[in-house]
Amino acid sequence: MANGICIFAENYNGKLEPASAELVSAARLIQETTKEQISAVVVAKDCDGIIEELKNIGVEKIYAVKTDHDILFQDDAASQVLADMIRKIDPSSVLIPATPAGRSIFSRVAMKLNCGLTADCTELLVGTKEDGSYYIKQNKPSYGENVFVTIVTRDGYYPQMMTVRPGVYTIPEKSEGNAEVVYMDDIQIPESRIEIAEILPQEDSTDSILSAEIVVVGGRGTLEDDNFELVKQFADKIGAAIGGTRPMVDTETIPFDHQIGQTGLTIRPKICISLGVSGAIQHTEGIKDTKLFVAVNTDENAAIFKVADYGMVADLREVLENYLKL
Ligand SMILES: Cc1cc2nc3c(=O)[nH]c(=O)nc-3n(C[C@H](O)[C@H](O)[C@H](O)COP(=O)(O)OP(=O)(O)OC[C@H]3O[C@@H](n4cnc5c(N)ncnc54)[C@H](O)[C@@H]3O)c2cc1C
Repeated sequence: MANGICIFAENYNGKLEPASAELVSAARLIQETTKEQISAVVVAKDCDGIIEELKNIGVEKIYAVKTDHDILFQDDAASQVLADMIRKIDPSSVLIPATPAGRSIFSRVAMKLNCGLTADCTELLVGTKEDGSYYIKQNKPSYGENVFVTIVTRDGYYPQMMTVRPGVYTIPEKSEGNAEVVYMDDIQIPESRIEIAEILPQEDSTDSILSAEIVVVGGRGTLEDDNFELVKQFADKIGAAIGGTRPMVDTETIPFDHQIGQTGLTIRPKICISLGVSGAIQHTEGIKDTKLFVAVNTDENAAIFKVADYGMVADLREVLENYLKL
């Protein structure tokens, strides 16, 4: 009988990816109802540090495979190892960060296990079947991010596998943990057909918004004239990352992975400065945990002022030009 909530512990250079650590919070919410054990699968050259990190955020059982080099960029080998691990562990659900690696590896794992994979969930809830057993309601935006759908894994296609958008859940507080660790030495590491030529750090990635202490969010109001240029100069001057609303993505002013809101990122910076944003609920959902929120809008009735700690009824151009002169 399949049991347990299993997390894919994505890692690089011996460190756990924050997006995987966040999944422990999602698993705990599921566990409150299902009472299942929370486990994690680790495939890495240096497992020890990752295992410690997982223990300290509340993972109860850790399955590890040590490799002679990190194989997570080699999807063919990584997906085979992870599929073999999951087949043996037989969990009822597998939570995967919706990162490029998570999406790429687990689409292959799903094929090998002949199960489903729901991509890019923004909310996981627990439902109860007629026989009293539980299932996960995998909620996600769909149809060009215009509707929310609930996806349920059909019986016979378990484990329930889902990727979860980074930033939706928070990393649990650290405390000394005591997990059982199982090294799965019998799992074979296949030869990969992929050779890694070079690894270059990505500049200006989504991660930079998720970890930024200050974020400047531009809305449609910044699209007039060269207002967005001023936004960039302002962000540069105060050392902030830049995010935006959906119209900013639709007009290709910012990439989709910088959209803030229900169908974009959830950010939790210390300070968020919102410029020319009306304050639609689909957007403000993504900023509601900001510690200090400042909004500038010409419309004194704009909904954004209802969620802002400080509001300025002003033309953003005037505000930014004056600030940049300082
Ligand atoms: C299912 C669904 C999911 C969605 N998901 C998201 C999401 O994840 N993220 C998201 O952002 N949106 C999302 N949307 C769209 C959302 O409903 C709003 O349409 C969008 O957030 C509006 O963006 P905006 O505030 O930039 O533009 P607008 O609503 O057009 O507001 C522009 C604001 O700028 C102000 N302004 C104009 N000129 C100036 C100036 N010179 N100085 C100061 N202020 C000025 C105006 O007064 C106005 O309030 C979603 C919609 C749906 C239906």
